[in-house]
Amino acid sequence: MGEYILRCPVCGEAIDDCYTNTCIKGCNGLVYADYSAKQITVRDLPGMFRYHDWLPVSGWTQTDTCPATYRSEGLADHLGLKNLYITFNGYWPEKRAFIRTCSFKELEAVPTMLRIKERLKNGILQISSAGNTGRAFAEVSAGTGTPVIISVPKKAAGSIWTTRECDSVFLVTIEGDYSDAIALGNEICTVPGVISEGGAKNPARRDGMGTVMLDGTMAIGKMPDWYFQAVGSGTGGIAAWEMGKRLLADGRFGDRLPRLYLSQNEPFVPMVNAWAERRREIIPEKDMPGGKEAAMETYATVLTNRNPPYSITGGLFDALSGTNGIMRGVKSGDAKKAGRLFMDLEGPDLDPAAEVCVASLISAVESGDVNRDDNILLNITGGGYRRAAEDLDMIPVRPSASLRSLDEADELKDKITEWRRKYA
Ligand SMILES: [Zn+2]
Repeated sequence: MGEYILRCPVCGEAIDDCYTNTCIKGCNGLVYADYSAKQITVRDLPGMFRYHDWLPVSGWTQTDTCPATYRSEGLADHLGLKNLYITFNGYWPEKRAFIRTCSFKELEAVPTMLRIKERLKNGILQISSAGNTGRAFAEVSAGTGTPVIISVPKKAAGSIWTTRECDSVFLVTIEGDYSDAIALGNEICTVPGVISEGGAKNPARRDGMGTVMLDGTMAIGKMPDWYFQAVGSGTGGIAAWEMGKRLLADGRFGDRLPRLYLSQNEPFVPMVNAWAERRREIIPEKDMPGGKEAAMETYATVLTNRNPPYSITGGLFDALSGTNGIMRGVKSGDAKKAGRLFMDLEGPDLDPAAEVCVASLISAVESGDVNRDDNILLNITGGGYRRAAEDLDMIPVRPSASLRSLDEADELKDKITEWRRKYA
């Protein structure tokens, strides 16, 4: 159980996992986990570890975090869909959805935090975030005691909270935006023993998100015809494609890969534009005119990655090509309307990215992209915030350091070296 080797999609090299996220020969591709289990057995383990066979970890931790798939009635009837399945990644106890920070980023954080603990003795994970991802990693750190260093833009500090007391997070804020937080993170990773989490290149992160496809397939009894998600970096789409290939090879869940149906929020839709011309390269002037300003005009700001893993081998272009995928832009007004409709028909409140996804489903039905009896899996990537606020504590994580600029990084690195001794 849980046996795997890492493999490079470019040269095929097999790589032992020492928290390795790139090919040792230097190829430019997304290294993936090649599992010894070719057929999956759902395990009697906590939360998402029920899919342990296809997660790149040896052990497991106590967790409730797991995708929760159910068959829709309200939204399905409204749209005239016969087989609409919703994977709810958020907080909704009646549906057995217990993601306490209300975002599917916890699906990435749970196996990633365990992977570093297993593969790098005394290594400490560093993650740069604009908000949701940092919160997910803080929560998992609070639940497991595994230390993590999180760098965020100062204005996002308020979105880093946990639902239980936590003293294993070193939170650093910096004036500026997400790219400043990334630059700070790179500086922090020069401290010996501090390791960058890896983003889309981290196979634990992708296969953690891939459990959505597994959970949906188990609920339906076969692979869906369609997989719907709103994407910023596209990593969720890549993850769904990778799991689809494993399910196809398993042989028991259908003989066709689910088609990806992915959406972005207008006016910032670089991957929609590049894919419309079946281009592997994103051309910034053409595909994301307005750059940062266009990104700031969007409603679902988490969908505005300006450097997504689209062109790289094993990335989103390959995932769309391999599944005959579709990408669409969604207007902010349509997303908000779709969010209200979802709340009326299904119950919970959604985060803006999930609203974009629901809007894309509505337009796919109207335009005839999907048939009414197709099996459709809708990945709700975040929601249930109102209910979580009623049921759970939201304890702010206090910054351990606040920087005005990178000039102050040296002092910070000394502080981190000192803090790290607690865990070495
Ligand atoms: Zn290689």
